[in-house]
Amino acid sequence: MSFSFEVFPPKADKPLDNLLDTLEHLYVFNPDFISCTYGAGGTNAGRNVEVCSAIAKSGRTIPVTHFTCIGNSREDIRKSLHTYLDKGVNHILALRGDFPEGWQGTRGDFNYANELVEFIKKNFPEFCIAAAGDPEKHFQADSFEEDIAHLRVKQDAGADYIMTQLCHDVEQYKWWVDKIRKAGVSLPIDVGLMPVLSKDPIIRMTVSNGSSIPRELAEIIARYGDNPEDFKKAGKEYTIKQIYSFINAGINGLHIYSLNRWKDVTDILNESGIRNLNTSAAR
Ligand code: FAD
Repeated sequence: MSFSFEVFPPKADKPLDNLLDTLEHLYVFNPDFISCTYGAGGTNAGRNVEVCSAIAKSGRTIPVTHFTCIGNSREDIRKSLHTYLDKGVNHILALRGDFPEGWQGTRGDFNYANELVEFIKKNFPEFCIAAAGDPEKHFQADSFEEDIAHLRVKQDAGADYIMTQLCHDVEQYKWWVDKIRKAGVSLPIDVGLMPVLSKDPIIRMTVSNGSSIPRELAEIIARYGDNPEDFKKAGKEYTIKQIYSFINAGINGLHIYSLNRWKDVTDILNESGIRNLNTSAAR
């Protein structure tokens, strides 16, 4: 099973130092890779390159850049991919991206992620390519069958593995894996796991993706929603249980959305015991 983190870049006007410090604390857990998000529409794309390049330079793990079709022409994409390669980054999560407010389409040369995957595979075969998968169905797809058929197209276009959207419902995840395997999707799956740390962000991030809030999590929200400290404590315990439930489901990789909160992530990993390492440097 692979083990990895996601981070996001600082805002354009903020220094990189805090994130570099966060990375140092995450390296302690010997992740197989660390991925860095990319603002759809290219907002803050420069910071994404800086972060990926810093990870590459560290020599501590593999950087995986997220990249979207939004607002990008073929030529823009070609230039960006050359830049990544020049910085030592040859792993990519190829996404369509969410439309910025008021947009109806990507306003770029590619409408869907499968076209980006195909372009990268053909023109930049040195990249290892991940594609997104949605265990609860992408919110714009009319049916699971349709969404899974589109996932299959990403596999056929050359994706090497799947990274999932957040999904708190492990039974739903298992059902989806069964469905996609029957549909011929055989790629390894890294499960994206969102730590439960604060009430409003977890609700917002969950529902904005069309994902559901299981009863156990709803109960934590109802019981501790007015008390951030108690909420975080219960949320961390819930996250540890989730980690084990996913591991028991037989996943190929665990991808922790770190939210750049290395202290909380360190607590969760140390308490879970899944990374049996000397983590004293992270404390
Ligand atoms: P697609 O695979 O293109 O699918 C989008 C929708 O179109 C789906 O409903 C699908 O069923 C349908 N579809 C797909 N192919 C076709 C086709 N050929 N014809 C017709 N319909 C089709 N967004 C960011 O902006 N930045 C990030 O850094 C970022 N990181 C992410 C990390 C992970 C692990 C995940 C899972 C998502 C991330 N996202 C990010 C969000 C992602 O961009 C959105 O979920 C987006 O809405 C869909 O992207 P996709 O690559 O799944 O698109």
